Amino acid sequence: MEADGAIEFLDVVARQGDGTLVTRRARTLVLAAGLEPVLPDGIVSDERVWHSEELLAKLPTLRDPRRFVVVGAGQSAAEVAGHLHGAFPAAEVCAVFAKYGYTPADDSSFANRIFDSEAVDHFYTAPDEVKERLRAYHASTNYSVVDLELIDELYRRHYQEKVQGKERLRIFNASRLAGVENDSSGLRVTVEFLPTGERTPLEADVLVYATGYRPTDPLTLLGETGGLCERLPGGGVRLGRDYRIATSPELRCGIYVQGASEHTHGLTSTLLSNTAVRVGEIAASLTDHLRTPRLPPACDRWCSAQGAGLLAPGPARRHGVLRRRARRRGRRSGRLRAGRRLLRGEHRPGAGRPAAGRAAGAGDVGRVRRRQPPPVPRPHPGQDLRLPAHGSARRRLHRPARPGGRAHAHHHPRPTTG
Ligand SMILES: Cc1cc2nc3c(=O)[nH]c(=O)nc-3n(C[C@H](O)[C@H](O)[C@H](O)COP(=O)(O)OP(=O)(O)OC[C@H]3O[C@@H](n4cnc5c(N)ncnc54)[C@H](O)[C@@H]3O)c2cc1C
Repeated sequence: MEADGAIEFLDVVARQGDGTLVTRRARTLVLAAGLEPVLPDGIVSDERVWHSEELLAKLPTLRDPRRFVVVGAGQSAAEVAGHLHGAFPAAEVCAVFAKYGYTPADDSSFANRIFDSEAVDHFYTAPDEVKERLRAYHASTNYSVVDLELIDELYRRHYQEKVQGKERLRIFNASRLAGVENDSSGLRVTVEFLPTGERTPLEADVLVYATGYRPTDPLTLLGETGGLCERLPGGGVRLGRDYRIATSPELRCGIYVQGASEHTHGLTSTLLSNTAVRVGEIAASLTDHLRTPRLPPACDRWCSAQGAGLLAPGPARRHGVLRRRARRRGRRSGRLRAGRRLLRGEHRPGAGRPAAGRAAGAGDVGRVRRRQPPPVPRPHPGQDLRLPAHGSARRRLHRPARPGGRAHAHHHPRPTTG
């Protein structure tokens, strides 16, 4: 930490597969924590009540199930209903949802352009009310919708069984769950048909909530460092166009968000369509910042504020001038070469900064430490926050449990720029 209280490094504490904690020091952090499953308020999953993401892991534990109840009307719900109906020919599958019918996903050509990288620019610069309108217009490209072929397939099975008089795929449309009793004697749910209020009690082996996912809030991973990051009035994290979080001026580290940016960058944020472009943009910004020596806080502030669309181009132009000047000074001081070495993971401990301190333990997680740093460790590929990736396509329903990982800020003497 300098006299001005600058924070130059983050210590990221990660739990490894064997439970041990490992600390990695970084100037820059990219948070790509993906989506987390959402259950209705008050619902906790157990051996009979599942979120759809648990389906494939928990199915093998079942013995001769007689009835499943599946709640939801999105792609996951339709896939779960179809899968259970096909995999358990002796079981009844009751699909419960509030709509009259499943809604087809809009994958028409013009609407698909909302996933173009150009649309990200449009969305980012749009006023808030336009953002909201665009999200609402095109939510049916991704949310609470089902591929038309799957809708038709489910309807075909349902209709065929109805004609044959042995209805195993039961559709409780325009309905809601009015009650769930789950005790040692079994699982009982009550389904209410919304137009008439008629109630149907059902005994079931399993209740599957296909109630969707939401992006992990990136700031919840940051411990106290999260308090130095800015939020928008709506609660979302304030992001630059380069996905860098706007932070308090004293935090000189770059923190980027990969994924949880739908509120600022649009519908493609949580999907695969624009991932390659997005991570390229993050890599370019990150590289640029690492090459450039640290700037005074006011200048960093301009950068994040301008990136978030708050300031007119004036300060940004000035910022560019400052950056170029600083870059020239940095070249002279050799810091550029050090930055490149850091990028390549070739940082030499002790070079150019004091080496002291200790490795972080469990008690350090999430704390902002104000002391001299230990040497920057060489990166150990595969040991940091990376875990087995969860399903990345619509048809993959299971995601393995994730161990926790947090970052905390590390104050460090700010390198001088000249
Ligand atoms: C059911 C489902 C269907 C989908 N279908 C489609 C589709 O059809 N088309 C499409 O384009 N996109 C689809 N997506 C979205 C797609 O999965 C994402 O776009 C993609 O996986 C994003 O990649 P990612 O690396 O950002 O996140 P993820 O693939 O989610 O990876 C995030 C990783 O971070 C780990 N993690 C989280 N928190 C921590 C922590 N604290 N410490 C350590 N590790 C952590 C997780 O365990 C996970 O391994 C679907 C998503 C789901 C859930």
